[in-house]
Amino acid sequence: MDDVMTITFLGTGTSQGIPVIGSDHPVCLSKDPKDQRLRVSVMISWSGYNYVIDCGPDFRQQMLRNPIPKLDGILFTHEHADHTAGIDDIRPFFFRQGDIPIYGHERVINSLIKRFDYIFADGNRYPGAPAVKVTPVVNGYTIPLGNLEVIPIQAFHNRLQVFGYRFGDFAYLTDVKRVDDGEVNKIKGVKALVINALRMEPHHSHFNLEEALEFANKVGAEKTYLTHISHLLGFHEEVEKKLPKNVFLAYDNLQLKI
Ligand SMILES: [Zn+2]
Repeated sequence: MDDVMTITFLGTGTSQGIPVIGSDHPVCLSKDPKDQRLRVSVMISWSGYNYVIDCGPDFRQQMLRNPIPKLDGILFTHEHADHTAGIDDIRPFFFRQGDIPIYGHERVINSLIKRFDYIFADGNRYPGAPAVKVTPVVNGYTIPLGNLEVIPIQAFHNRLQVFGYRFGDFAYLTDVKRVDDGEVNKIKGVKALVINALRMEPHHSHFNLEEALEFANKVGAEKTYLTHISHLLGFHEEVEKKLPKNVFLAYDNLQLKI
């Protein structure tokens, strides 16, 4: 692929976002814009295509901050609300473009059907409800998106299966606690890797900082960016200073060119 790929971090926060509602934790009170994090999501743009990974409750605000003329599709990592709850806000794209393509594990699609039944209804549709075109993601099968074959990467969020995705020289994984070696091999050689790093203390379903750094080392990407960050990780500026030289904390609206 000769085209430049632009990665936009739409959100880099954990499930409650930062600041947490009503919190007086110093990170939640920080005036540094890099300490303010919407729910986690990323946009990948190349050759006129725009795809987003996940569609959390901040999707509307994220699309207003980072306007795009069209949305070519949404890839879901898993069904948790911080990754899916904004799906109703695809409506403006739907009105202009028609059915919006979505991609995810069959279990994730079934969860969306249950929670957003009106989006998937065949008959007797509410006028104004958005509609989607579903493509199930199966591990071991690439997903043709534009001129790219996107590779699903299977990982585990405690016991819940989640998908990360490799787009050419870019790989994005979040809400990960375990990745088997066979899957790690699928992301070797990327120029930029994104991986979740929740906080300093261990957590049952997320990498903490130490585990994320170990994983970054194992993959050996030229640059690694950490995301899905809790206020408990600390101030952006202070944590960033302590990281190895090819590892960075992502922040909202950061753009990478690959
Ligand atoms: Zn999450």
